[in-house]
Amino acid sequence: MKAEIISVGTELLLGTTINSDAADVALLLSEYGINVYWQTVVGDNPGRVIEAVKRAKTRAELIITTGGLGPTCDDLTKNAIAEAFGLSLVLDKGEEEWLRSLWRERHYTSLEITPNNLQQVMLPEGSTALRNDWGTAPGCVFSAEGVMVIMLPGPPREIRPMLEHRVRPILASLSDGVIASHTIHFFGIGESEMEYKLRDYMNSLTNPTLAPYAKNAECLVRVTAGAPDAEEAERMMAPVIERVRGLFGDLAYGMDTPSLAEFTTKLMLEKGVTLATAESCTGGELAKAVTDIPGASAALMGGVVVYTNEAKTRLLGVPAELIEEKGAVSHEVAVELARRVRELMGSDFGVGITGLAGPDGDGVHEVGTVFISLADRERVWVREKHLSQRGREQVRLYACQHAFDMLRRRLAGLEVEEIDQP
Ligand code: ATP
Ligand code: MG
Repeated sequence: MKAEIISVGTELLLGTTINSDAADVALLLSEYGINVYWQTVVGDNPGRVIEAVKRAKTRAELIITTGGLGPTCDDLTKNAIAEAFGLSLVLDKGEEEWLRSLWRERHYTSLEITPNNLQQVMLPEGSTALRNDWGTAPGCVFSAEGVMVIMLPGPPREIRPMLEHRVRPILASLSDGVIASHTIHFFGIGESEMEYKLRDYMNSLTNPTLAPYAKNAECLVRVTAGAPDAEEAERMMAPVIERVRGLFGDLAYGMDTPSLAEFTTKLMLEKGVTLATAESCTGGELAKAVTDIPGASAALMGGVVVYTNEAKTRLLGVPAELIEEKGAVSHEVAVELARRVRELMGSDFGVGITGLAGPDGDGVHEVGTVFISLADRERVWVREKHLSQRGREQVRLYACQHAFDMLRRRLAGLEVEEIDQP
């Protein structure tokens, strides 16, 4: 089945809003093996929306639109679609009743709903409304001229649950099987190296398939299988997953997890261990990443941002002479950060991060030089990384990811490789 996504909104053309709706729709369609051949973005202009829909219906069997379903006069998607298909708009009684009761519940300024609000429940004839429990404008679905059309609201906080609860069941009924996938997460290998090592195996597969990609300083491999049912899909994917994991050993840290930060934090919670952090160039990002996970207080005891040399000495007692002699960005200072913050907090682990995120250097080290340290009660491990090409934000992200990787390795009983990258 060929699909086209049409996103309506001048803000998308101007670049002030990123078209995240189209990405969300495309991701869901791919789960059902529906190929998105085109994505169109069009401004809030009736003529051009009609033109876009007319073109789409000549080439796609499924059209999904996003945005422009609300009560204001720039919300014109339904009118334009009705026009493009030669349909009239009719008031949906069920949705009208629902909207009126919502209005009463919320007690807007007047008890009587304003006419422009009823515009939201005018749907192309023959449509089935898709109740929007996360906003006020319902979506709808209809079929005409051999094309199925699904209209969805623009705000991401509305379209996401609509996709999950309203559109997914429709797609499931369209496809005669399931497309299931798993994502294996790796840390410590680049995308190109991974692709190179996987290439022959990847090319030999047709179903399931493999797709490597990179995201947030991690490498991921998505395994996807099409099968009559979910169980069969799992059965087909299992040996492929095993083989891929086998190829990369313990560089693979998990599967279907949102991030290395979340994976590691949950591992800490599971094992009942505690952490304290001493951050310089990451400015608290590591602690922030841990505290993003609900329940993190059982894992993170606390952390300090010791950005200046003075702070390193005053808050943690790192000897000023050591900083003077070795430099704040050094193996030795990294050791002290992790060791001292752990002792100070009495936690099981301490992590230290000191580096030069750039863009300006310190006259001694190359920009992007970072030392990441992990201390437990017995010893301290240090990684030295040079990430000069990556820019400030990426240097910080990589530093945090390395800290999590060191921690997860220690917790899993693996060797914490000390990378001393000259
Ligand atoms: P509303 O009832 O809020 O008016 P709507 O369905 O009419 O919803 P729009 O008016 O087109 O949707 O957009 C509402 C807001 O949703 C926009 O200001 C924008 O922030 C966001 N939005 C719209 N389209 C997209 C999109 N494709 N991707 C991400 N955000 C979007
Ligand atoms: Mg709107």
